[in-house]
Amino acid sequence: MAVSGDDTIIGIDLGTTNSEVAIITGGKPTIVEDRGEAVLPSCVGLDDRGAVIVGRQARNQAEAAPERTVLSVKRLMGSGTRVRMGDGDYAPQEISAFILKALKERADRAVGREVRKAVITVPAYFTDVQRQATREAGEIAGLTVVRIINEPTAAALSYESGSTGRGTLLVYDLGGGTFDVSVVRVEEGVVEVLATAGDNRLGGDDFDALIVERLNAHIEKELGVEGARGDRLLQARLRRAAERAKIDLSDQPWVRVEEDHVATVDGAPAHLACELSRTEFESDLEPLLDRSLRAVTTALQDAAVRPSELDRVLLVGGSTRIPRIAAVLAERLGQEPHGEVDPDLCVALGAGVQAGIEMGRDMQAVLVDITPYTFGTSAAGELYGMPYAHQFFPLIRRNSKLPATRTEVFFTMFEDQEAVDVKVYQGEDPDALKNVEIGTFLFSGLNQQRDAHRQGLLFTYSLDLDGLLHVRARERATGREIRGVVENAIGRSTGEALGAARERVSTLWGGARGGEAGDAAAGRGGEPAPASAVPPDVVRGAEETLARAERALDAAPAEDREEMINLMEDLRGALKEGRAGQASELRRNLDEILFYVE
Ligand code: AMP
Repeated sequence: MAVSGDDTIIGIDLGTTNSEVAIITGGKPTIVEDRGEAVLPSCVGLDDRGAVIVGRQARNQAEAAPERTVLSVKRLMGSGTRVRMGDGDYAPQEISAFILKALKERADRAVGREVRKAVITVPAYFTDVQRQATREAGEIAGLTVVRIINEPTAAALSYESGSTGRGTLLVYDLGGGTFDVSVVRVEEGVVEVLATAGDNRLGGDDFDALIVERLNAHIEKELGVEGARGDRLLQARLRRAAERAKIDLSDQPWVRVEEDHVATVDGAPAHLACELSRTEFESDLEPLLDRSLRAVTTALQDAAVRPSELDRVLLVGGSTRIPRIAAVLAERLGQEPHGEVDPDLCVALGAGVQAGIEMGRDMQAVLVDITPYTFGTSAAGELYGMPYAHQFFPLIRRNSKLPATRTEVFFTMFEDQEAVDVKVYQGEDPDALKNVEIGTFLFSGLNQQRDAHRQGLLFTYSLDLDGLLHVRARERATGREIRGVVENAIGRSTGEALGAARERVSTLWGGARGGEAGDAAAGRGGEPAPASAVPPDVVRGAEETLARAERALDAAPAEDREEMINLMEDLRGALKEGRAGQASELRRNLDEILFYVE
């Protein structure tokens, strides 16, 4: 359907947890942001004066005022159920209309005039009644719904442009509260959903609950607190902390969760401070991921498609940023999945592509920069079930969106081992020696502190848009680190380039320098590194405490004020110079004073 030039059509992803809107600019869909936020939480409420609020503001009051806040209304679409909000009751499509209206207004502002038409996405399994209810919601919001399209179709369109793409795709969509997997076929602009399966009660909220469970167990066992599970406010705090921790674990192998004053034990405040590892989280996650993999098998069987016949696997939904998910799908389906089109936004972007097609535009796919190779390191492990000294451990996987950063933990083989080679390989083979070695950095002076080997070494690879691969290795116990950079990491892949590659490996600072494995064994070289980086969660925590201290300073008694100023100065210094351990210690001291003065 071709329409006149100013008859703008917008693309909307009306999600269970979050919604987004895309408009067309220069033949490409773009997400409309509101004050820097692309995502609108799918949450509607009445504020304390009875005015309708939508999005983050409504979500923020959901814990405190559940009786006037509606979450996840999408689950009720087409059900005929009425939804209570404050003194009124509403049809689900009326509540959805508030969300659509908020999105429409974003688009109106971005386009500079009123928008009247939209493409809206729905899950592939939605019945006709549910689709009709979605259409009505659009109409209540003042939008003519020119097309309702399936979410996996939209995801495919964001990758395949719609007009030229072809192939069979598997779309694995794991969001905040729902999981869907679909097998779709794209042929000259026509996308067909061959099969769909899933679980509309599986998602990021369940993963948060796994972490909350660990935090509750810690509070009970380590702090000796009883009745924590019945404390609604505390549970809400733990859920927020758990989600933050989960998100951090997607990039880091460990996180520290700190919550002040979670209870009072024998008249004294009890603070929660515990560490969670990605390994622990992943083992909790396993049964849930298995459930999702069973649905993947069902969808493939129903579509009569073998894994080897899939041209692409697409990751959709915020929860697919958990690295374990791409890893299990790669193992199961034999190819690295794609997550380069932002998994939170790709359904809305695809709705935008469809909107552009409806407007008669020649649409391009959403192009993003990705790495065509996997980058990783080698370490002792297994190959084909046998112990092997050079197993390849991927850090930045093929198809990752650039810039990309990943940290993994490794351990020295022996307690008193003084040096390791941080090897950098490019390739896809589980045997590191069959990949291309593009850099080696010697990290020496290790394990000088007792038990340091137990805490391990953190390797961080950061690949930027210019193809520079920044490598950092940090001894966790001491915070000592080395840094290096491999230039032109993406450009090279041939054995011939190898020699030149080694030449181009340049050292930025610290004890990093090129070396062979033998050097590491002999443990020579390596200056002590001058500083360590402070993990983002420690920086965040310290900044929060500093802000609280600033606020409390004027009202604090004179004797505390002086100590607070000293601690604040020292803490700022520790952050600036990257002394993580000291920063945590100073923050604790400052928190203790704040507890009494606030
Ligand atoms: P969606 O419904 O697609 O917007 O997905 C929202 C879910 O994705 C929430 O449960 C988030 O906590 C989760 N999420 C967002 N970013 C990440 C991340 N980096 N790692 C793990 N989960 C994430």
